[in-house]
This record gives sequence, structure tokens and C-alpha cells, in this order.
Amino acid sequence: MPELAESQASSRTRVSGWVVLALWTLTFALALIGVGPWIGYAAEGIDRSQIPRTLALLTLPSLLAALVATILWAIGRTRRVTASPEGTRGLGRRRFLVGAATGAGGVLGGLVGTVLAAFLRPLGWMTVTAPNILSNTPKRDAEPRDAWRGARVQAYRRLGRTNFRVSDICLGSGRINLENDGEAIAREAIARGVNYFDTAPDYSGFGSELALGRAMKGRRNRMFLATKFCTKDGHLNTGASVAQYIAAIEGSLERLQTDYVDLVHIHSCDTVERLLDPNVHEAFDRLRQAGKVRFLGVSTHTPNLEQVATAALDDGRFDVMMLAYHHGAWPKLEKIVARAASQDVAVVAMKTLKGAKHRGLLERRDQADSYTQAAFKWVLSNSNVSCLVISFYEHPHLDEYLYASGKAPTQEDLALLQRYDELIAGKHCFAHCGACLGACPEQLAINDVLRHRMYFEDYGVQKEAMRLYSRLEKQADVCMGCSAPCLGACPYGIPIQERTIGAHRMLTFG
Ligand code: SF4
Ligand code: SF4
Repeated sequence: MPELAESQASSRTRVSGWVVLALWTLTFALALIGVGPWIGYAAEGIDRSQIPRTLALLTLPSLLAALVATILWAIGRTRRVTASPEGTRGLGRRRFLVGAATGAGGVLGGLVGTVLAAFLRPLGWMTVTAPNILSNTPKRDAEPRDAWRGARVQAYRRLGRTNFRVSDICLGSGRINLENDGEAIAREAIARGVNYFDTAPDYSGFGSELALGRAMKGRRNRMFLATKFCTKDGHLNTGASVAQYIAAIEGSLERLQTDYVDLVHIHSCDTVERLLDPNVHEAFDRLRQAGKVRFLGVSTHTPNLEQVATAALDDGRFDVMMLAYHHGAWPKLEKIVARAASQDVAVVAMKTLKGAKHRGLLERRDQADSYTQAAFKWVLSNSNVSCLVISFYEHPHLDEYLYASGKAPTQEDLALLQRYDELIAGKHCFAHCGACLGACPEQLAINDVLRHRMYFEDYGVQKEAMRLYSRLEKQADVCMGCSAPCLGACPYGIPIQERTIGAHRMLTFG
């Protein structure tokens, strides 16, 4: 009879062992595919609302079940040993210890495995991003030229009908915040003559507005301050209520520590519908009556740039347009800029570095630094442009950027711009373009995919690029296995499928 009981117990133990193994396997898998993305996206600061939670939530009960099953399995195994003849003779002590150790080892091993599984997916990200992070470290000239040191603004221009005279080079603040010395950089920029700040709630997740608010303390009345109708997560879309638009600006005023902003943009406006949304205009009118905003603007850099900018000029309510404008700009854009000037609508240039690939492409570091100055001088050589906005996020930018203020491009500058154009051929997707979009049966926003790649690869803002890419309606995984009817659709010779698939690999976890 004892043999029979032992045999039954042994059989139960064997079954329990398989159950334990199955439960740990399930827990490991749930941790890998359920919890992994959450940890990775949390580390990257990316919007997690799109990730399904069910698998992540199932991991905890599965883990508890695996723990309980392991303990029961260990207890059962120990009892069997102590009840055996060797156990009654005291010979099973060693086996008891082995059983207990096996149980504890099983629990510990299972836990470690689960934690490793959860971190396995984010580790894949490192293989994708680490080389880019390293290669995107600014390759500034180790010995910046003495002539640039302490450079100050040399020229001010009238900002259209606002009548404000702004520095020709203005501070964009997309990458600054309180942690990266943004406040000190902005304060130094003011000291050197910069008097136009461009910010938005979604720049560094409120961080930009907070840093500028502190930097402007005691100097606010010298400054022209522009922000956007945005939340921390991005611009407000068509259909947002009047109250939401007003709340967005009131939040900005609080963070900027001011009673008013000079200019508020409908930001990154890609459709005429959003440009003319009655709610945004009603909100602007109410805010202006309350003295909280002064002028209305629109910023645009999409394939619909021409349509949006033309509609803004036709509409007549816009005082400022912030447009993607750089050397080699397409002829229609020159006409838009000229028409804006004729209506006394100010043009603020952005994206002036034409993809900002100079740090990696130009052979010499001093050439890369000079490229920025040459590109700025080219933009400012158009007297219809009031100023340019460029992202300052390191102290050396103050010398490098402001040295171009008030200067005209030289023959050497123009040759450098031409060299740059040769190097980016087939790599740079133009912000205003969209010529290829009709060729894609998947209706992939090719220009947006390549723009986010540029943010990641060339601007070095990996987190932001991945966040923006994760919010696209459709991602470039649709290009894998596609027969590529887009082949040859880019007039600038971009191999679209190769670039979009590369973008997808770069902008998602490995
Ligand atoms: S390769 Fe991509 S972009 Fe080109 S047609 Fe196919 S899905 Fe569209
Ligand atoms: S890939 Fe070429 S055609 Fe398509 S949006 Fe970019 S520049 Fe234009």
C-alpha cells in the first residue's frame, strides 16, 4: 500500500511539474509581449495609449499562479521524500534539502526570467538607436573660430503688420527645457540681442515654455513671444471646442509666467479645414478681447503648404506665417513669400537647414559649422523674410548661429550650399512636397514617415521622432513585401521603399 500511495503521489508530482513549467512559460511569454512594450515605451516617453493592455494585465495573475504552483510542487516533492523509507530512516534529509532548494530555485529562476523577458524588447531598441545616438552627437569643430565668440544680433527687421522689430535670427525652443540648461541658453540669447522666442506646449512636454518663462523674468516687455494652439501631446485638431483652444493658451500663459503672448499659431497646419476652423477663430477673438493674445499666425510645412498658405493669405485674418523655407526653395514658395510681403503679412522662416544633414555629411567639421551660417545668410538674403527661427539647444549655438546675423552670403557660402545639395541628393524629402503620395495604394504618408526619420537621424531627437511616428495613422511596415508602385515617383530621386522601410526599423522597437 505505501508503494501505491507513493506511486499516486509521484504521478501527481509529475503532472504538477508540467503545470509549473507551462505556467512559467506562459508568464515569460506575457512578460515579453505584454509588459515589454510598456517598459520600452515608458523609457522612451512615447504615447502608450495605443498599446493593448490586456496582455500586460494578465501577466500578474499568471505570475502569481506560477509562484503558487511552484511552491505546491516543491511541498509535494518534499512530502514524498520525507514519507519514503529513506525519509523515515532519516536518509531523505539530503533529498528534502535538494527539493526545497529546487523549489526556491524554480521561483527565483522564474522571476528572473519574467523580468528579463519584460526587458528583452526594449533591449532591441538599443541596437537600433544606439548607433544613431552616437553618430548624431554634434560633430562641432573642436576649436570654434575666435571671430564667432560672443557673437550678437546685428540686424532687426519689421515683423509685417505687427510692427514689432525682431532680430533676424530668433530662438526656436523645441529641444530646450529646465533640465538641459534651456533657461540659461535663452537668457544668454536675450543678452545677445535675440528678442523673438518661438515655443509650444508640446516642445519638451511643457519644458520649453517653463524654461522660457523663467528666462524672460524681468525682460518680458522686450520680447516678442510666440506659442501655439497645442496641448502637451500635440496640436489641437479640427473639431476641438472653443473652450479647449482657450484652455490651451491659458495653460501657456501660466507656464510662461506672462499675461499675454504676442503671437499664437495654428501649428503645423496641414489642411484648410483646420486653418479656418470657426472654433479656433472664435477662441482667438475672445482671447484677443481679453488682452491675452495679440496676433494670429499659421505654421505649415506639409504637402499642402501652398494650399494652406494661399488660403491664409486669401482669408486675411493671419498676421504671420511660419513657413519651411531654405536654400533651393521651389519657385512657387518664392511667390507665396512675395505675396505675403505685399499684404504686409510677416514671413518667419523655419526648417532653414534643409534637413540638417550637415553634421554627418560634410567632410570637415568646420565646414559643417559654416554651413549653418551659409544657409541662414541665404534665407535672410530675401528681404521679404522677416526673420528665421532656429533651435538653440547648446551654448555653442549662440556663437555659431548669431555670427550669421546681418551678413550677406559670399561666393564661398554659395559653393558650400551647392556641395551640400550634391551630398543630400536622393536622401532629403522636401517638407512641402508630396508628389509621390498618389502613387501609393496604401495611402501611406510617405512625407511624414521620411520627416520623422529626419528628426531621428539628422536632428538627433530620437524620442520625439518615435513618438510622432507612433501616432501616424499608418506606418511603413506596409512597405515590406509591397511591389512598390512608388518606384520612380519621386522627382528628387529618393528610393522611397528603401527609405521608408529603413525609417520603420529606425522608429520602432527592433
Ligand atoms: S513601398 Fe510603401 S510607399 Fe511605396 S507604394 Fe508600397 S506601401 Fe506605398
Ligand atoms: S519622397 Fe520625394 S516625391 Fe515624395 S514627398 Fe519626399 S521629396 Fe516629394
